[in-house]
Amino acid sequence: MKWKKTLTGLHSYKPGKREEQVMAELGLTKITKLSSNENPNGCSEKVKTLQSQLNRSTEIYPDGWATELREMVAGFYNVSEEELIFTAGVDELITILARTLLSQETNTVMAVPTFVQYRQNAQIEGAELREIKLLEDGSHDLPSMLAAIDEKTAIVWLCSPNNPTGNYITLAEVIHFLEKVPSDCLVVLDEAYIEYVDPVPEPHVHLIRRYKNLIITRTFSKIYGLASARIGYGIADKAIIGQLNIARPAFNTTMISQKLAKVALMDQEFVAKSRKENRAGIAQYQEFCAQYEEVTMYPAYGNFVLLELDRSAEEIFSYLEQNGFITRSGRGLGFPNAVRITVGKKADNQAVIELLKALLEEGGQSKWREMY
Ligand SMILES: *Cc1c(COP(=O)(O)O)cnc(C)c1O
Repeated sequence: MKWKKTLTGLHSYKPGKREEQVMAELGLTKITKLSSNENPNGCSEKVKTLQSQLNRSTEIYPDGWATELREMVAGFYNVSEEELIFTAGVDELITILARTLLSQETNTVMAVPTFVQYRQNAQIEGAELREIKLLEDGSHDLPSMLAAIDEKTAIVWLCSPNNPTGNYITLAEVIHFLEKVPSDCLVVLDEAYIEYVDPVPEPHVHLIRRYKNLIITRTFSKIYGLASARIGYGIADKAIIGQLNIARPAFNTTMISQKLAKVALMDQEFVAKSRKENRAGIAQYQEFCAQYEEVTMYPAYGNFVLLELDRSAEEIFSYLEQNGFITRSGRGLGFPNAVRITVGKKADNQAVIELLKALLEEGGQSKWREMY
């Protein structure tokens, strides 16, 4: 077969073990998944009602234009319907962006560590990667990113809040950056966690009018609790959206995902409640970190915390796993002494914190013994 050479050395995405498998392997009766930044509150009750009532026939293709959802999102942000693209999660949008803009003749600038899909898709398209190390506090090194852009740079990726560190890029910084990027280089501002930022940032989607090379990406997977429905969107100038639509599969979002997203968007009370609870959860972790010099917590603006401890990522990860909590090892994320933990329900956060305290104070010995 004539596979693209760019695939050599790349690996497919490895999902974490399913909860059932971990429980069986470790002999646990309960396990809490805090590894993928899903909403611990599930989704809006209104969405749940709809989920139980969906009765439209599935033999009919979905509305490829997502008309009703499009009208609603356009109204929500006060943008025009042509300034939106809907995709099977932001993941698919990233793939479409790479497919339409990146090739062996181009390069792409991104932070490292950041969301891994930018890199993966850029590599498949054969583009040269220009990865700029995060600053020590976990924030993007924007001046160095600007300096890395040249006439062959097709996309520069900003992730705010950044996954996995959690840092948020202020609007002033984003604008300062946009002012300096050449107008023929696309800036992707990935705001998958923007609804978690507290206090709520000033609305800024209108930036797409001033900067015709900007696309803002958002998703229903995180705060809206629809990760499994696979629906997200991009907001950009019509000209950008027009190009991306050429490469978008005609029926990339489903009737069910569109309906769920509409109902979810209408329930902003649920969003506000999730944001508030998440903030309280982050405060639990902040309080814990303040008590232990050997723990570093990166600025957490999303619904996850990246904690660096004075031991290996594997050790922290397996210790938490054996005690019933699935987190994300920092190893694969570029942090060999850290774990990324999704902020969960208050009691779960407290339980994780107690486990970490035990690990730090007694090497986790007593907890291990309790368990076995
Ligand atoms: C989760 C995530 C996404 C992708 O979410 P979808 O489920 O594909 O919409 C995109 N960017 C970042 C930074 C994420 O963490």
